[in-house]
Amino acid sequence: MSTEDYDYLFKIVLIGNAGVGKTCLVRRFTQGLFPPGQGATIGVDFMIKTVEIKGEKVKLQIWDTAGQERFRSITQSYYRSANALILTYDITCEDSFRCLPEWLREIEQYANNQVVTILVGNKIDLADKREVVRQRAEEFAEAQSMLYLETSAKESDNVEKLFLDLACELIREA
Ligand code: GDP
Ligand code: MG
Repeated sequence: MSTEDYDYLFKIVLIGNAGVGKTCLVRRFTQGLFPPGQGATIGVDFMIKTVEIKGEKVKLQIWDTAGQERFRSITQSYYRSANALILTYDITCEDSFRCLPEWLREIEQYANNQVVTILVGNKIDLADKREVVRQRAEEFAEAQSMLYLETSAKESDNVEKLFLDLACELIREA
């Protein structure tokens, strides 16, 4: 069996305001690193990582949104084939949480209605700067039938779990 073989292939797209840590989450998961400074940009459209879940090879094609979030210009083509969306906000940035309904409208408009969405509150290593209490985010996610997880791309907290939980959910729904 070659390493190219897989049982499932899923496309995962990260969305959310600029600066919340989407690129850092992808790089932490796919490359095991936290990029220094502000320069987290990946010069490619997507990154691939294959994980094994209950003996099955699950190939994850992970799409980052580089800069487009500023212009709300992520178009239908970007969402269309996504199996899952990681809607990310920054727990230290109230504004990034308040924009979530706007993102949900985009999802409703552009994503296919089978899409699995997980809400992620990133930067939990900055607990002393927290602006969004956990319960508020949990209630919001539950009301929208989204999974919820808090992560730190910096400390590698829950990042592996984020993608593995998502892969499990996608297999369940496949
Ligand atoms: P993006 O615009 O959503 O892709 O956000 P980036 O991944 O480029 O991250 C924006 C800024 O937040 C950068 O300065 C990162 O170093 C920082 N950052 C990202 N994730 C974390 C995290 O988990 N903890 C902390 N403390 N900073 C983070
Ligand atoms: Mg980015």
